[in-house]
Amino acid sequence: MDIPRIFSITESAHRIHNPFSPEKLATLGAALRMAPGTRVLDLGSGSGEMLCTWARDHGITGTGIDMSRLFTGQAKLRAEELGVADRVRFIHGDAAGYVADEKANDKANVAACLGATWIGGGVAGTIGLLAKSLRAGGIILVGEPYWLRLPPTEDVARGCLAGSVSDFLLLPGLLASFGDLGYDVVEMVLASQDDWDRYEAAKWLTMRRWLEANPHHDFAKNVRAGLASEPGRYAAYTREYLGWGAFALMAR
Ligand code: SAH
Repeated sequence: MDIPRIFSITESAHRIHNPFSPEKLATLGAALRMAPGTRVLDLGSGSGEMLCTWARDHGITGTGIDMSRLFTGQAKLRAEELGVADRVRFIHGDAAGYVADEKANDKANVAACLGATWIGGGVAGTIGLLAKSLRAGGIILVGEPYWLRLPPTEDVARGCLAGSVSDFLLLPGLLASFGDLGYDVVEMVLASQDDWDRYEAAKWLTMRRWLEANPHHDFAKNVRAGLASEPGRYAAYTREYLGWGAFALMAR
């Protein structure tokens, strides 16, 4: 079981697989005012940067589930590196349908899914899934793109690698949609264009280095084409139209 190979190539050097800087991740951790011992569940935990740094900075304990073998391995190494391996565990697996075990006292104070809401079939489904693992009064954390301004055409939406304009909402609409699901939005931290640049542009050097190391690989043609087209596509579309944020929610 694994994710499509292309992500394991382009994002192999990323610690955070979202348009979020280390500073923003730290800001979010502080914003949630977590006491030591807070239990955090992270579906689609990637390379584990959120759980590992929050364990170091706030004394949380955490469980992360991710379908990428590479990223899960990196998360375990990061936990060792930061000296928090006794407080966080990373499971390689499909997080769709993952529910924390009530009997094992595993329910979370904070249940998160940052940038992987397809795991629950969309934002609403993922919030429903996370809610099943949450203790009463806990916080759900969702990371999701939104339109900075509405794409004028479906072609522009596809240029942002969205399936269609209807895939995302404008920020006020996204915030209102959380209310419609019965949640108060109690905090948010938003990505800037600089954060987007770090996420997207960091892929390009990784791609270039990978091509130099793997010139005859089956994927070399794809990666070469991606490296040639991605900077222009990103600058014309994603950078202009797409925002991203992490939203903290509490049931009303
Ligand atoms: N939250 C992390 C990773 C976001 S990228 C961060 O902010 O860094 C999306 C992640 O979802 C990737 O790590 C990918 O491997 C993982 N993923 C995709 N489908 C998944 C699934 N069905 N179950 C668990 N993880 C999944």
